[in-house]
Amino acid sequence: MPETASETSSAPPARESMAFDVVIVGGGPAGLAAAIRLKQRSPDTSVCLLEKGSEIGAHILSGAVLDPKALNELIPDWKEKGAPVETEVTEDRFWFFTKSAAIALPHVIFPPLMSNRGNYIVSLSNLCKWLGQQAEALGVEIYPGFPAHELIIEDGVVKGVITGDLGVAKDGHHTDSFTPGMELRGKYTLFAEGARGSLSKQLLAKFGLGDGREPQKFGIGLKELWELSPTQHRKGLVLHGMGWPLDNETGGGLFLYHWGDNLCSVGFVVHLNYKNPWLDPFGEFQRAKTHPALAKMFAGGKRIGYGARAITEGGYQSVPKLSFAGGALIGCAAGFVNLPRIKGSHNAMKTGMLAADAVAEAVKSGRAGDALQDYDAAYRQSWVAKDLYLVRNAKPLWSRLGSLLALPFIGLDMWTNQLFGFSLFGTLGHGKPDSATLRPAAESIKIAYPRPDGQLTFDRASSVFLSGTNHEEDQPVHLVLRDPGIPISVNLPEYGEPAQRYCPAGVYEVVEAGSGPRFQINAQNCVHCKTCDIKDPSQNITWITPEGGGGPNYTNM
Ligand SMILES: Cc1cc2nc3c(=O)[nH]c(=O)nc-3n(C[C@H](O)[C@H](O)[C@H](O)COP(=O)(O)OP(=O)(O)OC[C@H]3O[C@@H](n4cnc5c(N)ncnc54)[C@H](O)[C@@H]3O)c2cc1C
Ligand code: SF4
Repeated sequence: MPETASETSSAPPARESMAFDVVIVGGGPAGLAAAIRLKQRSPDTSVCLLEKGSEIGAHILSGAVLDPKALNELIPDWKEKGAPVETEVTEDRFWFFTKSAAIALPHVIFPPLMSNRGNYIVSLSNLCKWLGQQAEALGVEIYPGFPAHELIIEDGVVKGVITGDLGVAKDGHHTDSFTPGMELRGKYTLFAEGARGSLSKQLLAKFGLGDGREPQKFGIGLKELWELSPTQHRKGLVLHGMGWPLDNETGGGLFLYHWGDNLCSVGFVVHLNYKNPWLDPFGEFQRAKTHPALAKMFAGGKRIGYGARAITEGGYQSVPKLSFAGGALIGCAAGFVNLPRIKGSHNAMKTGMLAADAVAEAVKSGRAGDALQDYDAAYRQSWVAKDLYLVRNAKPLWSRLGSLLALPFIGLDMWTNQLFGFSLFGTLGHGKPDSATLRPAAESIKIAYPRPDGQLTFDRASSVFLSGTNHEEDQPVHLVLRDPGIPISVNLPEYGEPAQRYCPAGVYEVVEAGSGPRFQINAQNCVHCKTCDIKDPSQNITWITPEGGGGPNYTNM
């Protein structure tokens, strides 16, 4: 059972401390699957799960086509238990777009592992809400609105986390409602923060977890939820596309899923190793919807949701060492997305379950605070590692060859891997991190984006409104600049300050003041996608958790 203790001290108010067997940071598919598995394995183990969103699912944004493999293993009777997993995939299409045509690519290009047969179109946000209920029913203590803000590391061992303070004003002074963050201590702490987790980033550096591995790669995923006219809706349709409007050297593509009652999840991923600093991922997404083969689908429909989130793309060769003294990384905090399949939620769940198995054994045998090496070993033996291995060259080939030429090579490579278990390319590396790929602005072609029409294409302000994003205004800015001068003195002359374009929420602006340009941060608009932390060419921006409950409030995303 958890013990509760209060440290004794005078003002400021004492920091509360609670102890659990296991602390889990993040209520996405990885964290929730780990929590459920722990309770299934040993009901007496005390498990606490922290989520920065106002409720479970509020910060979850995904496609999502779900491969139910991990869910089947975790909760075999999920159908009877009413999981919101209802729309089976009935049509699976892959198109290559030119400006005016959409060329359907035959399925034979890709091996069966790419098929969506037996998969479901879901809202991952809704699925997480349901998983949260299952976890609570098993006795997991879930604290939504509590971001894990700081690590507790003692003698080189991770002992838990400290949640964010409440009631700190913009200038840093404590307001009347100041409440210090709480210490949550665990025998083990599992980090399930998703792509570019703020504490996971510190752990990767502190324990050298990525040493000897390729750098993690990322994409930015933007998504809208539409209610389509019933005449345009084809429940169960899955469509993936690449090509226009992106140029050949920029990786990425479109996804479009018809599900539920006339709902359509449409989204666009741009690989964050793009080179042209004038590129605007939000603008590319808006343009993509205007393709003649797609625009007609949205006629008579209404956009009802918007959001954005980084997605990991490094795959097999970028997976870091997973365990360290006192804890482990699970899910996309480590990066398990299968890029050609654009699927990561089943791998996130499975790695959460593998880590939970290792923790359950450790706690049962009275251990605490050691490295969960059994989890590293279990991952290497798992179907997650095997699946990622088969597609390990897709991303590097795409980055090296450009979209058009890469396509046949990726297909060939996946076929030889699947049929004969080998690749003609061995295992290719990724090269530079995404922050180092921009060309100087002066050497890059400016891109003119059409004005939004308010029907099919939109601006950032109306989009952020639909994400339900909200932050307490009087709090320190959670986008921390190492050197506040760099955006104007370095990024602006060198790269036209790309933050103005890569941020999907219009957080960063260069405004003309009397004394010259000034960098403005509209932190209250941040949808927590983490792109700035990844792509800033000077690596000058650090995303930290804002006050609890702040951020988007996604529904059906
Ligand atoms: C646009 C897009 C489309 C995708 N499409 C698909 C698809 O079709 N199929 C598929 O299988 N996968 C898809 N993915 C990938 C999939 O969404 C991820 O693999 C999956 O969500 C990873 O799960 P996770 O639990 O590791 O992280 P996340 O889902 O990111 O969840 C992390 C959770 O932790 C919380 N958190 C983070 N930091 C803290 C902190 N410090 N304190 C407290 N809480 C914190 C977050 O608020 C969030 O709720 C897509 C991803 C994107 C971005
Ligand atoms: S400020 Fe950073 S994390 Fe927030 S929405 Fe913009 S790019 Fe994403």
